[in-house]
Amino acid sequence: MYHRSETRPVKVGNIQIGGNDQVVIQSMTTSKTHDVPKVVAEINRLAEAGCEIVRVAVPDHRAADAIKEIKKEISVPLVADIHFDYKLALKAIEGGIDKIRINPGNIGRREKVEAVVKAAKERGIPIRIGVNAGSLEKRILDKYGYPTAEGMVESALYHIGILEDLDFQDIIVSLKASDVRLAIEAYQKAAAAFRYPLHLGITESGTLFSGTVKSSAGLGAILSQGIGSTMRISLSADPVEEVKVARELLKTFGLAANAATLISCPTCGRIEIDLISIANEVEEYISNIKAPIKVSVLGCAVNGPGEAKEADIGIAGARGEGLLFRHGEIIRKIPEKEMVAELKKEIDKLAEERKQE
Ligand code: SF4
Repeated sequence: MYHRSETRPVKVGNIQIGGNDQVVIQSMTTSKTHDVPKVVAEINRLAEAGCEIVRVAVPDHRAADAIKEIKKEISVPLVADIHFDYKLALKAIEGGIDKIRINPGNIGRREKVEAVVKAAKERGIPIRIGVNAGSLEKRILDKYGYPTAEGMVESALYHIGILEDLDFQDIIVSLKASDVRLAIEAYQKAAAAFRYPLHLGITESGTLFSGTVKSSAGLGAILSQGIGSTMRISLSADPVEEVKVARELLKTFGLAANAATLISCPTCGRIEIDLISIANEVEEYISNIKAPIKVSVLGCAVNGPGEAKEADIGIAGARGEGLLFRHGEIIRKIPEKEMVAELKKEIDKLAEERKQE
């Protein structure tokens, strides 16, 4: 099996996918791509939330024509999602797109495939092959009877073969399924079958709540094995939520550089403060902190500071006040009303220190 750090590095604009132990966060816009001001605003909102690469749907020429204008207004690399029409791919490349998602086997005649590959090669633009359990080639479905992990990898190898025959290797592959177990197996088999970096995703995973659970279960299992160099969490929700979930998931595996994490107690009858609202407020606050710090919010001082020894900074509730602590040591008492504001100041101070280290 190829660990993500052993995969072939592929450049998407200024971002590298594969060839290192990092996982790049992606999402996709929901606005109509031809509505340039709206899609630009959405892309910038996603970038602000921590999205490193954004994909737009390119279903028609109006969308393909808009790419040039969109590119002028954004700083993150842009990916064009194209299904069959090679002319849209050529137009997107012409417009300065940074990557295209298209399956070469679906383009049609060889001259069309060659035209797309030639244009991509000239501009150094990678191609993502997107295998989806729900739309496997008929011959593969006929062979296996239903979507299987073997069939998905066979489909990926078929599309990879077309590109390799044209001496094209800047390839990224996804093998999405809405069945979590199928997706896990497909990614495991793919990581054993080829060295191209893998784009992870559980497709049609559901709403913010159920989709988060399902995606985290599936992608967590895959990430923990060292598989996957980029990912998109697919939710029936604002795409900014996809980015937040992706960041949180990567933090869980120590794969998000420069991110602050929150430790908060589950609460019990010893609680002395309004912990749930404080924890939510602090979580929201640290989502904008770009430094590797652990912050803890605990309901009481009985076990709190000791339980959160690994936290860099934190508060524990006491009667009418809060205890500010660092690495398990209480450093100061703060009146309850000022507790959260003081904690935020300390977080900022610490983040500054870390950035200078
Ligand atoms: Fe209970 Fe205190 Fe532990 Fe929170 S920190 S779970 S309130 S004992």
